[in-house]
Amino acid sequence: MSTLLRIAIQKSGRLQEDSLKLLKESGLQFSNGRDQLKAQVRNLPIELLFLRDDDIPQYVEDRVADVGIVGENVWIEKQKNNELVKRLDFAKCRLSIAIPRSENYTGISFLTGKNIATTYPTIVRQFLKNNKIEAGIHEISGSVEIAPGIGLADAICDIVSTGSTLLSNGLKEVEVVLQSEAVLIATPALEPAKKAILDQLMFRIQAVQSAKNNKYILLNCPNEAIEKITGVIPGMKSPTIMPLSRPGWSSLHSVVNENDFWEKIGQLKSFGAEGILVIPIEKMIA
Ligand code: ATP
Ligand code: ZN
Repeated sequence: MSTLLRIAIQKSGRLQEDSLKLLKESGLQFSNGRDQLKAQVRNLPIELLFLRDDDIPQYVEDRVADVGIVGENVWIEKQKNNELVKRLDFAKCRLSIAIPRSENYTGISFLTGKNIATTYPTIVRQFLKNNKIEAGIHEISGSVEIAPGIGLADAICDIVSTGSTLLSNGLKEVEVVLQSEAVLIATPALEPAKKAILDQLMFRIQAVQSAKNNKYILLNCPNEAIEKITGVIPGMKSPTIMPLSRPGWSSLHSVVNENDFWEKIGQLKSFGAEGILVIPIEKMIA
């Protein structure tokens, strides 16, 4: 049988949809029915395994899967023999300590001698150690945010995205323990044939990520402004410049990064750019 790269992804939950989307945008063709445990990718030697996210680091360590997509929080908590190969820029959240809102938080020493409920005992233990705080850790498997209200703990450490769950449980966030996003993990020392498939996948993921972070931009400008505008939007190598039929004017095409997009548009306008069009890019290969 020829070599297959096995990729473990979450069966259901917050990571699933974006994981599938990333793989589809990377050109993998597969059908994933409900309750399916596996899916064969039709156009690449890849097999997808649908698993509980918490189990993925173990399966990757055991080489049941070669690579997996999990939250960084889970990857760090599990401490398995896995390598982080790529940050995936979705499922962004943070792991934070929260305490009852009525408490007066005086700083991290507040936690000394307290009992902290969490599903992330390893990460909390490391955090307390780094901060030289002695506190109890109460490991529970879910509904962490209700622990202080029922007298099970003095504080919690849990995932926060908006803070509304904390609010509705009468809690306030006091320390950020970890910033997390989805990551691609792999077994160390993959055999060369599998590594070659992974490299191909990584190349495609990179192209998808670059495309998301950039926009194609077209504008008209007076010829005198070309140099200044090129300084602001140099593009991948240099912009394309074409003369307009109107004398003294050109059309300039380039690429602009999402992060400083609005700032650059402002500058371009001040240099005399007109008719600015901004178009999404589907794939971008430098
Ligand atoms: P279970 O395993 O019981 O299904 P879980 O909490 O492990 O529950 P999800 O809620 O699907 O599973 O979360 C999976 C991952 O998604 C988390 O480990 C975290 O990395 C990320 N995540 C969780 N909550 C959020 C959120 N509110 N916003 C963004 N990412 C989140
Ligand atoms: Zn989980």
